[in-house]
Amino acid sequence: MAQEEQKLATSRYAIGVDFGGTFVKLALLRFSEKGVKIEKFSSFPTKDYQRDALSDQLVIRIIKFKAESTYKGNRVRGVGIGMPGRIDFNQGMVFDLTNVPGWKNVHLKEVLQNKVKIPVFVDNDANLMALAESKFGAARGYKHCVCVTMGTGIGGGLIINGKLYRGMNFAAGEIGHMTLNENGPMCVCGGRGCAERYIGNRFILEEAMRQLRRGARSILREQLRNKFYNLTLEMLTQAARKKDEFSLMIWQEVGNHMGVVLADVVNFLNPEIIVIGGGVANAGALIMDPIRRVVRERAFQVSCRNLKIVPSKFREKAGIIGAGALVLTEVEKK
Ligand SMILES: [Zn+2]
Repeated sequence: MAQEEQKLATSRYAIGVDFGGTFVKLALLRFSEKGVKIEKFSSFPTKDYQRDALSDQLVIRIIKFKAESTYKGNRVRGVGIGMPGRIDFNQGMVFDLTNVPGWKNVHLKEVLQNKVKIPVFVDNDANLMALAESKFGAARGYKHCVCVTMGTGIGGGLIINGKLYRGMNFAAGEIGHMTLNENGPMCVCGGRGCAERYIGNRFILEEAMRQLRRGARSILREQLRNKFYNLTLEMLTQAARKKDEFSLMIWQEVGNHMGVVLADVVNFLNPEIIVIGGGVANAGALIMDPIRRVVRERAFQVSCRNLKIVPSKFREKAGIIGAGALVLTEVEKK
């Protein structure tokens, strides 16, 4: 019993928010020696609310979690929010968001903190995924870590010497906008031939559909009955696991492209571990194998010695856990 009490005494609580393009997810998190646990969870569709109504919705839910926690005698240390865009971390200001309109130059930290009365921290979501994996997940115990999220966008977070590296203007880690082909197609960022333009999930599907329309042989052809626009990444993964040559080739290409980019990252940063997460990473070995092979083929041998390339531990929960981890990191710094 005494042991149990001690365990509770060392538990620390924080609220994590994963502000995505599709859903806003909140969790009351408990951190202890054993790791991290989601105590309470709630979510709502991002597009159901305009900007101010969305902030209000956040406030209501944060206050509810805080009250429930306080009722049980547990103090919530603060709120961490991960957002898909460019964020001034010091000021807690959102410069802009990639897939959510109406969020230009918003002082979110200030707005929320005045209402919820506990410290609020706002950061880029890929940074927070890196923090989650490095503090509690797949990269725990490593000093130099690169975390890549492969989804609609390709995000990157860097842990250097055990600390999150954000860069002068908080814009470091944009791995998805490293150039794969300088004469390639235009990217949303204004650049050309960015990695994301080839291996962002929409572009993986577009390329696969294009090849199917041009007559590529695949079991997906019968499955889709010419409605190629119904293709999903999950279908590509299932087909590849059934040894469908076409689907295997698509994943191989995705892995190759990511490998080329990561070989540059390895030569540039010489990390100990690369963690790969995001929806695209659910293809598992189908992309992990080519990524590992291409990195070893292309990066310096000395940089690859003892280098680990592993899947994310927390997967879709990495953002929310990282948001909570950010609170602890910042509050305990002071
Ligand atoms: Zn780009």
